[in-house]
Amino acid sequence: MKAMRLESIGNLVVREVEQPAPGPDDLLVRVEACGICGTDRHLLHGEFPSTPPVTLGHEFCGIIEAMGAEVKGFRLGARITGDPNICCGRCPQCQAGRVNLCRNLKAIGISRDGGFADYVIVPQKQAFEIPLALPATHGAFCEPLACCLHGVDLAEIKAGASVVVLGGGVIGLLTVQLARLAGATTVILSTRQQAKRKLAEELGATASVDPSAGDVVEQIAGARGLVPGGVDVVIECAGVAETVEQSTRLARAGGTVVILGVMAQGDKVRIEPFDILFRELRVLGSFINPFTHRRAADLVAAGTINVEKLISRKITLDEAPAVIGSPPAAGEVKVLVVTGGA
Ligand code: NAP
Ligand code: ZN
Repeated sequence: MKAMRLESIGNLVVREVEQPAPGPDDLLVRVEACGICGTDRHLLHGEFPSTPPVTLGHEFCGIIEAMGAEVKGFRLGARITGDPNICCGRCPQCQAGRVNLCRNLKAIGISRDGGFADYVIVPQKQAFEIPLALPATHGAFCEPLACCLHGVDLAEIKAGASVVVLGGGVIGLLTVQLARLAGATTVILSTRQQAKRKLAEELGATASVDPSAGDVVEQIAGARGLVPGGVDVVIECAGVAETVEQSTRLARAGGTVVILGVMAQGDKVRIEPFDILFRELRVLGSFINPFTHRRAADLVAAGTINVEKLISRKITLDEAPAVIGSPPAAGEVKVLVVTGGA
């Protein structure tokens, strides 16, 4: 079968590999669609730890073609979406329910072979069935949506709340939709590209701001801003210093800031601790998808979250190394590697 292998840092190739065989607890899944994520670019450049050689791809869905003897509750021909993050279940973090902080965390597509291939092995506890009636491309959104769901859960958005989302990539645009779904009546997206601001408003943002048009904090939380005094919840989804620095200043006193965006390890930002203390802000990190994959799959299956509008381009596996090897094109939200008719 074909697979896209990270042979070593900086070296990504599509080549023939042996088709894997499922162990007793595994599903053999024929991949239909697998999303390209910023993390794949970080893995290629060695900015995120991985153990090459490995097949990348952690946002996948596909059809069960074979399964091990111990697998229960699945049938051949069903479609599944994979939760790539595998916890050990035994370490102190797992035992405390913090499975995303597992000390022995492994991930499909990062530390073991993933979904940029004709087939992927998925342990049964990582697989969640989704309807065959759904376009397969939609299944590839369950993983990023599950991460956003964790962030929105942590934010504890109340009905009628005001929310700012910083960064209009796929994470920001999913978060905008989840914030509305959670009951926020004001959802403001800040992102530089006009096309993404327009898309956000189509997807439920009540307003959007252009960071190039002036100070974002003034535009939103200033005396003549959209929500003078700041919003209940800020969700940072850009992963750049500028937006992280804005996040605490955009929250109202007693408000909540959730950091979903990933900055490079070692990077620093300027935040005024006095501001966090004096205005008693709740500042939280949100890492991956603890126990949220099933709900994400249900939201995608029900069509409650619009993922179709987030698909910018569908490409073949052979085209993927060049796409991952270059920065995202202007206006591009999600690029999917698809096989067959997906
Ligand atoms: P992305 O497409 O790179 O999205 C980031 C967006 O932020 C860009 O599209 C960009 O859009 C916008 N941006 C950049 N600078 C900005 C600025 N100064 N002000 C406002 N917006 C700005 O990536 P993504 O896939 O959506 O992911 C977003 C972040 O979440 C990444 O850091 C990713 O690593 C992280 N992530 C975290 C988790 C987790 O579990 N916590 C899971 C998945 C991804 P414009 O060009 O329109 O400004
Ligand atoms: Zn563990």
